[in-house]
Amino acid sequence: MAIRTGKQYLEAIAEGRDIRIDGEKINNVVTDPRFSGGAQTMAMIFDLQHRKDLIDKMTYVEDGERYGLSHKAPTNAEELEARKQMFKIWSDASCGTFGRSPDYMNVYLMAMNAAADQFGEYAPNVRSYYKYIRDNDLSMTHTLVNPQVDRSKPVEQQDKDLAAKIVKTTDEGIVINGARMVSTLSAYADEILVVPSGIIKNNQEAFPYAFAFGIQGDAPGVIHVSRPSVVHQNAGHPMDYPMSGRFDETDAMIIFDNVLVPWERVFSHGDVDMCNEFYKRTNIGAHILDQSTVRSLAKAEFYRDLAFTITDSTKTDGFINVQNMMAELMTSVEIIRSIIVAAHAEAKLVNGVWSPNAAPYASLRLLYPDMYQRMCEIIRTVGAGGLVAVPSYAEFDSDDTKDFVNKYFESANGSSKSRTKLFRLAYDASISSFAGRQQLYERYYSGDPVRAAAIMYNMADKEPNKQRIWDFLDDYEKSL
Ligand SMILES: Cc1cc2nc3c(=O)[nH]c(=O)nc-3n(C[C@H](O)[C@H](O)[C@H](O)COP(=O)(O)OP(=O)(O)OC[C@H]3O[C@@H](n4cnc5c(N)ncnc54)[C@H](O)[C@@H]3O)c2cc1C
Repeated sequence: MAIRTGKQYLEAIAEGRDIRIDGEKINNVVTDPRFSGGAQTMAMIFDLQHRKDLIDKMTYVEDGERYGLSHKAPTNAEELEARKQMFKIWSDASCGTFGRSPDYMNVYLMAMNAAADQFGEYAPNVRSYYKYIRDNDLSMTHTLVNPQVDRSKPVEQQDKDLAAKIVKTTDEGIVINGARMVSTLSAYADEILVVPSGIIKNNQEAFPYAFAFGIQGDAPGVIHVSRPSVVHQNAGHPMDYPMSGRFDETDAMIIFDNVLVPWERVFSHGDVDMCNEFYKRTNIGAHILDQSTVRSLAKAEFYRDLAFTITDSTKTDGFINVQNMMAELMTSVEIIRSIIVAAHAEAKLVNGVWSPNAAPYASLRLLYPDMYQRMCEIIRTVGAGGLVAVPSYAEFDSDDTKDFVNKYFESANGSSKSRTKLFRLAYDASISSFAGRQQLYERYYSGDPVRAAAIMYNMADKEPNKQRIWDFLDDYEKSL
């Protein structure tokens, strides 16, 4: 069976990678308390593929072998819809907070494979890498952006030579030295795709930065410099942090310390045009946005449902201002749902893949960061002082305190325990470090929305729009 169980996944990632965190060097993310919750969530995600009631929704069979459905290139509307349902199951499992569940990168690589011819002499490498990932059900992260040193200059003109680049070409492959940011999930991913993002100038100095390849997360010289964990290390009880404890997917800067990338793992090399047109030629955007919009829907539904539950518990749901906020959350869900319907209704074959229209998704990509900030704000507004006037769940086990907390923390319609559980969840979803990082993630996970908006504007053919205004005025003038 080509689909892995959670146990097989954990065994594969348990040891080997070089992770630096809090001044320590660690290599086992399964046992380290800063990483173990996320690793278990990844394992749970893999296990969902094996559940009897889900296996046919999460996987497909080809030549007698079963594979994860996100590896499959949809060829018609039904297959695209089936893939959407698969995305939704994985997204719901983390309430939409695990941005890089493996389906995100699986569809990325699927689109690369469908456009393999575009990679010229490296096309066979793209095809065999896709097959390798699919057949072994491996998880991937990617890293696209050069370090944030001096954004006023292109990479080849930086005063400080820090960005990852090709420093040597040998018979065995290319040697990469330098850093890339950010790599979400790198602590848990089997593989890292190192792919282009910004425009590379067509000059000799810029050529070392023109590449695309895939490398194992534990390859010699690959160093993951992790941000400090958002997992609370001194929590009185796991119920105090029901999200951070499990759904921190981690972020890291990846340092390539003279890493040899064998030729068979190279997808592009010294081809500036290919790097600059990477996304246009492969149509990757339509597919990753398909996944991330379904995930955004799962997240919006979760925040809506959380707000309903909080306002029911405090009996504030009868107030018109509160009802307005609930309606705002419902509207967000409906907008996202409608955008998915529109993108699927306008799908077409691109590179042989039934691909959603990326335009509605690109619009949501610009709206969603503020929409999500507002979801968190509404939870904070309706939760109010209750978000901090709840104890640790551990107090219910304390002989000294349990009588007090059982009495004084009740809600209108529930026990102190249920209210404490609910408000700790609301805290974790809206105020904690985890929630702060989630808000940052939604703004930047697929690039800078400010530049994306400018690109959207600059790429549009605006002549018909302007002409229509002049025609309107001219017609009226003529009719006078
Ligand atoms: C939580 C999180 C997870 C991420 N995960 C991944 C991942 O898994 N893989 C990956 O490859 N990347 C990931 N990213 C990185 C993401 O791609 C970048 O954050 C994004 O492209 C923006 O680049 P930057 O962070 O370097 O910001 P900068 O480019 O430094 O921008 C900072 C600010 O300056 C402005 N600015 C900078 N340059 C310009 C310009 N030329 N014109 C106008 N305004 C400008 C921006 O609008 C912004 O306000 C992640 C980011 C975050 C925050």
